Amino acid sequence: MASIFTKIINGEIPSYKIAEDENFYAFLDINPNAKGHTLCVPKVEVNKIFDLEERTYHGLMEFSRKVAIALENAVECKRVGMAIIGLEVPHVHVHLIPLNDMKEMTFQHKVALTDEEFKALAHEISSKL
Ligand code: 5GP
Repeated sequence: MASIFTKIINGEIPSYKIAEDENFYAFLDINPNAKGHTLCVPKVEVNKIFDLEERTYHGLMEFSRKVAIALENAVECKRVGMAIIGLEVPHVHVHLIPLNDMKEMTFQHKVALTDEEFKALAHEISSKL
């Protein structure tokens, strides 16, 4: 069965898209640790990051770096943190999280955003790419 992220990439489930190329897709996390929390996903559906083909792994890092730079230019933060977990969704994804405080890396502290806020954030971040 297709993962929830494959359904997002295929447009079967809506997302607040930030960027897309032939192999990767970036969109806002629906339950963000901080404003601008973004997920970068390879289109190939692989569960664990170190099981990716080496080329895809490096491509994902390159793609995530571009998105992280745009994110840092779009959202007020001290820096952008990166985490790779995957305990909830078994489809590789890089979390990019604008950080002002260590609590934003704990995944215990969440922020609620409206549909309008998500849309405006996605627009602002993608405009910096
Ligand atoms: P992990 O697998 O790394 O533990 O976490 C999965 C992440 O995906 C969580 O931060 C969660 O909020 C996010 N997530 C789960 N389902 C969806 C979804 O349908 N849409 C979006 N945009 N994010 C999701």
